[in-house]
Amino acid sequence: MNKRFTGIGMTSQRARDRLVEKLRAMGIRDEGILDAMRRVPRHIFIDEALSSRAYENTALPIGYGQTISQPYIVARMTEALMQELPPGQTMKRVLEIGTGCGYQTVILAGLAERIYTVERISALLDRAREHFHSLGLRNIRTKYADGNLGWPEQGPFDGILVTAAPIGVPQQLLDQLAVGGRLLIPVGRSGEQKLLAITRKADDSYEETPLDMVSFVPMLEGLV
Ligand code: SAH
Repeated sequence: MNKRFTGIGMTSQRARDRLVEKLRAMGIRDEGILDAMRRVPRHIFIDEALSSRAYENTALPIGYGQTISQPYIVARMTEALMQELPPGQTMKRVLEIGTGCGYQTVILAGLAERIYTVERISALLDRAREHFHSLGLRNIRTKYADGNLGWPEQGPFDGILVTAAPIGVPQQLLDQLAVGGRLLIPVGRSGEQKLLAITRKADDSYEETPLDMVSFVPMLEGLV
């Protein structure tokens, strides 16, 4: 494998393995997700000055006032997104709002057939696209747009994962959820955000389950 991806010292495979054991101890059970976390080199998504901290279980700055999510949160949201799938089945179409550096996108790309990801900061999206390309991933489609609107042309989605927090759940995202599909979204103001899992039922009602209290950057409007 390319040297840049394998890493050395604090970015080595051993550092990744230790992180995975920590995630397991924190309650992540899905072996497919743990395996994805073991494989994906998180350090390439982070500025070199901070890369020695890439396999700590912590959020880190990625510029433009944004962060790469904490590994536990990435694993937890992915697990909650996919937990009701019958064994052996994978999600076909997943929408991610808030590409950021693209780390969560790459974890999803190893677990679902096709990922659609939307970001409102063009410089971040450009960088994420370079990572997808250098990792040889061909099942990710990106869009520079306001994620409050979802990606209606590509819906409905089996799963929607939102990595920035709106004050309330955008109706467009609910509309773009397939029947039986699941939306994972942090909702609320800074300091009082709750992670919600929302499932669209066969009668077109929505079942909402509150999960953990979380801390995400706010979901903003418009493009940068
Ligand atoms: N998924 C990232 C987390 C990125 S932080 C990871 O793997 O670490 C959240 C991202 O959401 C930021 O890049 C921010 O610019 C983006 N964001 C905020 N509001 C948005 C909106 N309305 N539409 C699209 N992206 C948005």
